[in-house]
Amino acid sequence: MDQKTIQPHIFFFPHMSHGHMIPTIDIAKLFASKGIKTTIISTPHNLSLFSKAIERSKLSGFEIGVLALKFPAVEVGLPEGCESDHMVETQEELQKFLKATTLLAQQLEQLLKDHQPNCLVADIFFPWATDVAAKFGIPRLVFHGTNFISLCVSHHLMKMDLSIVSDSEPLVIPNLPHEHKLAGNQIPDFMKQESELRSFGKAAAESEWRSHGVLVNSFYELEPAYADHYRNFLGIKAWHIGPTFLCNKEIEDKAKRGPKASLDEHEFLKWLSSKEPNSVIYVSFGSVVKFDDAQLLEIALGLEASGQQFIWVVKKEKSDQENKEDWLPEGFEDRVEGRGLVIRGWAPQVPILEHQATGGFVTHCGWNSTMEAVTAGVPMATWPAFADQFYNEKLVTEILGIGVRVVEGAKKWARFGGDRVKKENIEKAVTEVMVGKDAEEMRSRAKALGEMARKSVEEGGSSYKDLNALIQELGLHRIAPPQS
Ligand code: UDP
Repeated sequence: MDQKTIQPHIFFFPHMSHGHMIPTIDIAKLFASKGIKTTIISTPHNLSLFSKAIERSKLSGFEIGVLALKFPAVEVGLPEGCESDHMVETQEELQKFLKATTLLAQQLEQLLKDHQPNCLVADIFFPWATDVAAKFGIPRLVFHGTNFISLCVSHHLMKMDLSIVSDSEPLVIPNLPHEHKLAGNQIPDFMKQESELRSFGKAAAESEWRSHGVLVNSFYELEPAYADHYRNFLGIKAWHIGPTFLCNKEIEDKAKRGPKASLDEHEFLKWLSSKEPNSVIYVSFGSVVKFDDAQLLEIALGLEASGQQFIWVVKKEKSDQENKEDWLPEGFEDRVEGRGLVIRGWAPQVPILEHQATGGFVTHCGWNSTMEAVTAGVPMATWPAFADQFYNEKLVTEILGIGVRVVEGAKKWARFGGDRVKKENIEKAVTEVMVGKDAEEMRSRAKALGEMARKSVEEGGSSYKDLNALIQELGLHRIAPPQS
């Protein structure tokens, strides 16, 4: 068959977590917009959570297919249907979950054999995917879901002896563009000794070197020193192609990137439109971080005491029985009626952040959320819990100057549970990010960065050019059919 008539095809294999599925669908759209056929591989449960987003993308003309793999949850001792990161409740379950992902290699191999794509973009959680792709002679790209600063810090950390780290002495990470000190308690215990999770981290880092390169959902102007360090000092090939969510142009597409929202986006926007510019703080902690009732109560009290208007997203279902919501102070919602909205479940985050009434964001610093806030020009009150969230906090507060810490000093790494943050800290941080001269200055710096973010994906922008360079390098442009 004539080479020119064959449409190039890329497989995307994201980690089973909302924070990886969402940007992967956006990245698939970016490639599809260049005339490339894309297929997303995941498990039935994950695919069903994102079926609306994928369906909408197809209706908009993006060529995005799906293929399902059976997730061996029961085989590793997890409950049937435990197929997504946010369902994992303990460290032990997390280990089992990762074990289950390693058992997917054979199924992936079969799909590559059956469909023969030109390239595999596989998540960092699947280090073994590089070897699977090599069997078919196709390049494997890595997708992390994070930024250059976190990639740089993680690589240096991986090379260090962490067994000597103490909680009292901060660890200085050498050779980075800025001074980076990490408190001992911000390094998880599994990294301080030989453990399954540490070995997994090592294998993941090695797979970055051995794969064709890394796709980064960031833009060069946001963290130039770290983009350069990663490529030139650490010597890893990478393409920055973000903010990828900007491929969503219509409000419906921005609102429906994830699971079904608890309240229609038009309801939110109506509520926000009745507010003054920059007068509402949005409070949300992504899809994985969960707080106990006592912590939620502190947040409620802190928000109430701040006197600010807010939208607060809580990962809880509405209780059918009255007075059963122990995490809300008595009469809270009546007292804040008109000035505060409590959303139980999922919110359309991007339209909320982009609304002119939204003036601040209390965030766990997940990279997608951080990037969405930067692009919307919204300053942040930072409350990291684990993983790259500490490095993202540093970027936001110390390097970019567009955020304040909710807790000063070292906050402990805690994926499950964690130290309680007091209502006074929450009230203070919310006020600092919303009111006063410093807040205004942070906001104007954030707006300038948001402007750069948008420019980076427009024709001639840094991310636009890097995406095209990657397509050229992979040779996908040569076989892409002419675009209409
Ligand atoms: N998100 C959303 N509504 C919610 C919670 C999260 O739309 O109620 C989206 C958010 O916009 C982001 C993603 O889910 O795109 C969360 O990713 P992030 O990296 O911020 O955090 P994670 O969930 O991975 O901890």
